[in-house]
Amino acid sequence: MDKSVLLVDDEVGILKALTRLLTRSGYSVKVAQSGEEALNVLLNYDCKVVLTDFRMPYMDGGELLSKIKRLYPDIVGLVLSGYSDFESVKSLLNAGSAYRYLQKPWEDEELTKELAHAFMHYDQQLFQRQSQKMLLVSPDALLEISHPCKITQANIAARKLLGSAVIEGRSFDEFLVEPDRVRWQEQTLTVGQSMSIRLLNHTELEVSCRLACPSGVILCLNPVTDVELLNTAFELPSLLNYQQLISVISQYINSGHSAVLVVIKIRSFELWSRMIGYSEAQRTIEDIALLLCNSMGAQGQLALLANEQFVLFLPDVVSELDALQKTASIIDPVTGKVNLISSKLDYAVSYCLIPEDGDEPRTVLNNLLLGNLMMAEDPVRMFMRYDQQAIERKKHQISLNQALYHAVKQRQLFLHFQAKFDFAKYSLSGCEALIRWQHPEFGMVSPALFIPLAEQHGQMVDIGYWVLKTAFITAAKWRVEGIHFGKMAINISGRQLMEPDFIHWIKHHIQLTGVEPTDLEFELTETFLLNNLEDCAITLKAIAALGISIAIDDFGTGYSSLSYLSKLPINVLKIDRSLVLDIESNLNTESLVANVVRLAHDLNMKVVVEGIETLDQLNIVKSLGCDVVQGYCISKPQSEEEYLALLTSFESLSATMT
Ligand code: C2E
Ligand code: MG
Ligand code: MG
Repeated sequence: MDKSVLLVDDEVGILKALTRLLTRSGYSVKVAQSGEEALNVLLNYDCKVVLTDFRMPYMDGGELLSKIKRLYPDIVGLVLSGYSDFESVKSLLNAGSAYRYLQKPWEDEELTKELAHAFMHYDQQLFQRQSQKMLLVSPDALLEISHPCKITQANIAARKLLGSAVIEGRSFDEFLVEPDRVRWQEQTLTVGQSMSIRLLNHTELEVSCRLACPSGVILCLNPVTDVELLNTAFELPSLLNYQQLISVISQYINSGHSAVLVVIKIRSFELWSRMIGYSEAQRTIEDIALLLCNSMGAQGQLALLANEQFVLFLPDVVSELDALQKTASIIDPVTGKVNLISSKLDYAVSYCLIPEDGDEPRTVLNNLLLGNLMMAEDPVRMFMRYDQQAIERKKHQISLNQALYHAVKQRQLFLHFQAKFDFAKYSLSGCEALIRWQHPEFGMVSPALFIPLAEQHGQMVDIGYWVLKTAFITAAKWRVEGIHFGKMAINISGRQLMEPDFIHWIKHHIQLTGVEPTDLEFELTETFLLNNLEDCAITLKAIAALGISIAIDDFGTGYSSLSYLSKLPINVLKIDRSLVLDIESNLNTESLVANVVRLAHDLNMKVVVEGIETLDQLNIVKSLGCDVVQGYCISKPQSEEEYLALLTSFESLSATMT
C-alpha cells in the first residue's frame, strides 16, 4: 500500500514500459487497459496514485479521474498524455480531479520525480482530512501545526485555552513562556509523546502529539492547572499549582518518606456551572478550597488543578488505614457543608500511596488525575484507591483510538459471517457480516469496543464504507459463483446514515460491484432510529426503494416501542440477546417475546432472535412464533471459507430431508 500505483492505458506497450520503470523504482504496480477495468481494480486494490492516459475508448481519462475523485477522494490522479490533449486536461486540473499533467513521450527521471510528489501530496491530503475530522469532533483542545511551528488550524477549545480568537498563521511558541519556548523549539514530538509547557497566561499544559505527517502534526493541549480559576477565585497563598505540587512530591519521594495523594472532584460540575452560572460556580469552588484548607490545617498541602480537581498532599502516613483516617478527617467536615441550589454536592474521591503506587511524581499524579476523572463519570463509585489496571485500560482505549485512524488503509479489517436459520424453510436464510479488526500490536479487537470509539471520534464513516464495499463485493461474487446464501445483512451505523452522500454512494457501488440489492439487508439500531426518526425516514425510504431490506437491530435495548415503526419501511425486527437470556427460566420473558412477535407480525415484519446459544432456547423461541434465529447454537461468526462450508453442509442436509 505504501507505494501503490495504478496505471491505465489502452496501449499494452506503454503499460509494460511504465511497469518496468516503476517496479525498478520500488513501486507496487497494477495495470488496467480501460477506465471500466480501472474502476474494477480499485474495488479490491487500495492505491494512492492513479496514472492514466487521456485518450481511451468508451471512458476517457477525464471521466475516469472525475469518477475516482467522487468514489475515492484520497486517490491522487495524474494524466499522462500527448500535448494535444492539454486543453482538455486543463479543466480536470482546475476541478481538482487531476493533480498533474505529464506529457508523452516521458523522461524517466522526470516521471518518477512527479510520482514521488504525487505520493507526498496523498499523505498530506490524508493528514488534512483526518485532522479536519479530529478537530471537528474532539472535545479536547487541538491545534494543527505545520513545521516548524506555524498554527494552521485550531478548534474552539484550543482558541479558548490560548486566549485568542485569531491564532491561525501565528507561531505556537509565541504563546509560551521564555524557557519553554526554547525547550519547545529543541523538541520534536512524535505520535504518543508528550511534554509539559507553560503558556504566557501561566496555564500549564501537557502537550501530546495525536497525528503526524512529514509536514505537520496535530497537538492535543491538556491543561493541568486552571490559572483563571486560581487567580480570580481567591488569594490563598498556601494553594499549590501543578509545578509546585510536582516538586513537593519529588522532595518526599527523594527523601524516602511515604505520603498519600488524594484527588477530589465535584461530580457533574460542568452541568452545575451551566445551570447556576460561571461566577456562582467559582464561588462554590472557592468555598470548598477554603474549607479544605481550614480542615487540613498543617497536616498537608492543597493544590487546585484544571477540571476543578483538588489535590491533597498528606505526608508521613504510616499505613493505608492511617491514610484513610487522615483523609476522612479532612474531607468529612467539608462534604456536608457546601450545597448547590440546595442540592447536596456529590464528590468522586481517589487516592494513591507514595511510593507504593508509583515513584515517578509526574506519572503518579497524571494517572491519579485521569483515574479520578474516569471515576467521576461512574455514578456508583465514591471513594477509590488508584487503580493501575483501569488507567491502563483507559490508556489502551486512547491508543486504540489513534490506531483506528489507520485501520482501513493498513488493511487490518476483515469480515466474518454469521449464519441465520429460518424455521419455516428449515435452512439457512442468510448471514450477518460482522467486522473484525486485527491490529499488529493489540491483536484482535472486538467491534463492541472499537465501533463506539469510531462513532465518537470520527472514523466510523470510512470504516462503514469499507464494510459496505467489502460486503457488496463478496455478495456479488457469491451470486456469480451460484451460491444461494439468501440475504447478507450489513450493520449500518447512525453516523453513516446521516452522511449526505450515503444514498448516492450506495447506488454507485451497487452499479460498480454488480451486487443485487435484493441480496442485501441493512441493520440499523433501534436507539439510533428512535432518536432521529424524521431525518431517517427519507433515507430509509430511499434504501427500500432500491430493493434493500431493512432490519431493526438490538430491539429491546432501547425504548422497545413498536408503534413508531409502522411509519418506516421496516422488514425485519431483530430481538436482542439480552432480552432472551433468561427465556428458559422466566415466564415473563416468554410472554414478552410472544407479544413482540405478535405485534411485529401484525406490522408484516419477520422476527429474528439473536444470541440463541442452547437448543432449549431455540425450541422456546420457535414455539413463540419467531421466524429466524441467529446465535452460537447454529454457528459462531466465521471466516468466508468456513461460512461457505457451513452453507454447503446445510444444503446437503435439507436435500436429504426433502
Ligand atoms: P450486533 O449487530 O447485534 O451483532 C451481534 C453480536 O452478537 C455479534 O458480536 C455476534 O458475534 C454476537 N453473537 C451472536 N450470536 C451470539 C451468541 O449466541 N452468544 C453471544 N454471547 N454472542 C453472540 P460482535 O461481532 O462482537 O459485534 C458486536 C456489535 O458490533 C454488533 O452487534 C454491531 O453492533 C457492531 N458491529 C459489528 N460489525 C459491524 C459493522 O460492520 N458495522 C457497524 N456499524 N457495526 C458493527
Ligand atoms: Mg447486527
Ligand atoms: Mg444485534
